[in-house]
Amino acid sequence: MVVVESSAVPTKEQYRKNPAKYRRQRREYYELNRRKSQIAVRKWRKKNRERHRAYQRNYYRKHREKAQDYQKRWYRENRKVIVKRAGKWSKRNPEKRKKIRRQWEQTLKGRINKQKNTAKRRARTKTGGTLTDQQWQRKLKRFDYRCARCRRRRKLELHHIIPLASGGRNVIRNVRPLCKSCHIKTHRELKAKTARVSARKR
Ligand SMILES: [Zn+2]
Repeated sequence: MVVVESSAVPTKEQYRKNPAKYRRQRREYYELNRRKSQIAVRKWRKKNRERHRAYQRNYYRKHREKAQDYQKRWYRENRKVIVKRAGKWSKRNPEKRKKIRRQWEQTLKGRINKQKNTAKRRARTKTGGTLTDQQWQRKLKRFDYRCARCRRRRKLELHHIIPLASGGRNVIRNVRPLCKSCHIKTHRELKAKTARVSARKR
């Protein structure tokens, strides 16, 4: 009897003895039958959702940086489709969407992000302000394109000295350039200060 080396699924025993060989075999098979394999993989994932998730979590923990890089690249390359799909999902699940947003706004990053968006929206609609881009460019030049707080040359953000939310105006004397980290720090301190003031009033 001639024993033909089977390319079919190995037994556990076979796999344990020579995992590299079977892994290589599987990869080759996958490459040769791409379409078919993808469908099979998708089917398996659907049927074994929990196991697939556990596997992903485990992989992420082990290869954090690689996984993040991959995710970033994937997002960049598929941005349009992802945004569109997310929009559709939001429309179908308004309650879930609200819940996720509320949770996000309770995190530090989420709070800062929300403030930023509010400030941006206000600046766009110019709440009683006259700030022009030309004025802002001149201010940047006067600061030698450095952060007004740490004096480092970093990407600069527009900071309102008196926040728009506290009645500050969107005018040139109420703004200064801050780097991202100083901007975050400044707002954190501002918030702590207002919390102290309102505690004293009580
Ligand atoms: Zn800075």
